[in-house]
Amino acid sequence: MAEDCIFCKIARKEVPADILFEDDDLVAFNDIQPQAPTHVLVVPKKHIPTVNDLTEEHAALVGALALRAQALAAERGVDGAGYRLVMNCNAEGGQTVFHIHLHLLGGRQLRRMG
Ligand code: 5GP
Ligand code: ZN
Repeated sequence: MAEDCIFCKIARKEVPADILFEDDDLVAFNDIQPQAPTHVLVVPKKHIPTVNDLTEEHAALVGALALRAQALAAERGVDGAGYRLVMNCNAEGGQTVFHIHLHLLGGRQLRRMG
């Protein structure tokens, strides 16, 4: 846990968020500035700053994030049409919140990357 981290605060319910799912390990909530009709953030409760900080011990947790995003995509009905899962890392990757999170984006045609 990190005192000043916005996603730790959301996980601790110190800051409100539109929470869609929660269990012992992760929380999923709507992005405050959605870039698509479905824009959900799937976030581990444990404070891990960036993808660079992941180790083998986090393998199950990262798998759980992906599977939860898959389930949320199905709940939103975007699974058939398609969606994008993104984890940004550090400045050039576009990361702005330094507590890892998986973006689930869907509900519109997303532009090709690159
Ligand atoms: P990043 O740029 O780090 O990959 O993504 C951070 C995401 O967190 C952004 O899409 C941003 O809109 C979202 N975000 C930042 N602060 C908050 C907040 O307080 N509440 C919610 N729900 N989303 C936030
Ligand atoms: Zn945090």
